[in-house]
Amino acid sequence: MKIYYYTFGCKVNQYETENLKQLFLKRGFDTSDKIIGADVCLVNTCTVTANSDSKCRQFLRKVKKQNPYCILILTGCFPQAFEDAAYEMEECDIITGSSNKTEIPELLDEYLSKRQRIIKIVPHKKGEKFEDMSNTEVKTKTRAYIKIQDGCDQYCSYCIIPYARGHIRSKSLDILKNEIIELSKSGHKEVILVGINLCCYGKDLDNDIRLIDAIEVACGIDGIERVRLGSLEPEMILDEDIKRMARQKKLCPHFHLSLQSGCDRTLKSMNRKYTISEYTELVNKLRENFENCAITTDIMVGFPDETDEDFNQSLEFARKIKFSHAHIFPYSQREGTVAAKRDNQISQSIKEKRARKMTEICKQSEQDFLQKMIGKSVKVLFERESCTEFHQGFSENYTQIKIMRENPLKSLRRTIFCVKIIGYENNYCIGTIIK
Ligand code: SF4
Repeated sequence: MKIYYYTFGCKVNQYETENLKQLFLKRGFDTSDKIIGADVCLVNTCTVTANSDSKCRQFLRKVKKQNPYCILILTGCFPQAFEDAAYEMEECDIITGSSNKTEIPELLDEYLSKRQRIIKIVPHKKGEKFEDMSNTEVKTKTRAYIKIQDGCDQYCSYCIIPYARGHIRSKSLDILKNEIIELSKSGHKEVILVGINLCCYGKDLDNDIRLIDAIEVACGIDGIERVRLGSLEPEMILDEDIKRMARQKKLCPHFHLSLQSGCDRTLKSMNRKYTISEYTELVNKLRENFENCAITTDIMVGFPDETDEDFNQSLEFARKIKFSHAHIFPYSQREGTVAAKRDNQISQSIKEKRARKMTEICKQSEQDFLQKMIGKSVKVLFERESCTEFHQGFSENYTQIKIMRENPLKSLRRTIFCVKIIGYENNYCIGTIIK
């Protein structure tokens, strides 16, 4: 039997789909790269915005139209957070949430023997254990993502994720170590540690384990040359941990610190647990400790009750921090969250106007960052050949680098070279190999 996989959403979801693929391969199921011809279609959902839900519904309709007789499996954050809505999706034969994904192969066996619809959405409980998964070879990717943490207990007022992902829980250091050893053996040079709220890594484990301990384990594996961190909440990173991080030469000087707003009044209303002065302090410490440090972020505009003055403060803050890249998005009302019920919602036109202004400021700092890279020598892990013209990869600080491709038949994939930056265009730098 052949299975077609489709993933919506974040890197954690992608990691989990990859894990399911590996579990099914071990049971003798093949992977299909097309909906048509697959016996089973597995859709791993995201529910971060209302738009994610409608994209998922559209996709399910597309699957049923192209392949009406396939067995359809729906899993992930959407059914977990909106159980009643998931029950109504009658085109789905198996429905699970985010808490028991590794059970899906057994549920498929059960479905194949009884041919009866299965819905198994297990509620998240306080104290539940991390669902162990290890992806030991990710053939299609140069960089391997490793999920080390799940869940969030922060309840930011706009976010549905704590309801979809449950409470914080972490992968043990032993399992992490073995997974990275296997990834290294299969040729991966870079691993990226990801989680739903990565900074909470270890809070549920014994012996005061923290994210820095997972970083040290990853950096200690032979063959792994780079360790990168996924998105971080700008809190709970201790000074002592920054010092320990700086001693790890394999740790990439790239930190994605989710800002959301550069205005304290808005941060408070979002139930974020830091102030802009704490954020600035953290950025300064990272920049002092890591050479060529890149700080990237997410910024939301048009949160309920964000006044022009609040927005201008946020804009000025973004200008001051000089992010090397920012993902800007207008606030969208998410059913089931505190902020969605507030009456002082901002009109779509104001949200769009603010998003344009914020993008302009952040684009400028991205260009300034790229320009400052000129003349520097950086190590680039090549990932692919973007076209016949260029080899393409990323530097340690996550700048996209392209170099001319002299031999159209030669690939530099999964190799690291030292490159001198000679220019930049759009959102990438151009360089030449020096060794
Ligand atoms: S920290 Fe806030 S935004 Fe991030 S997952 Fe948790 S609740 Fe959502």
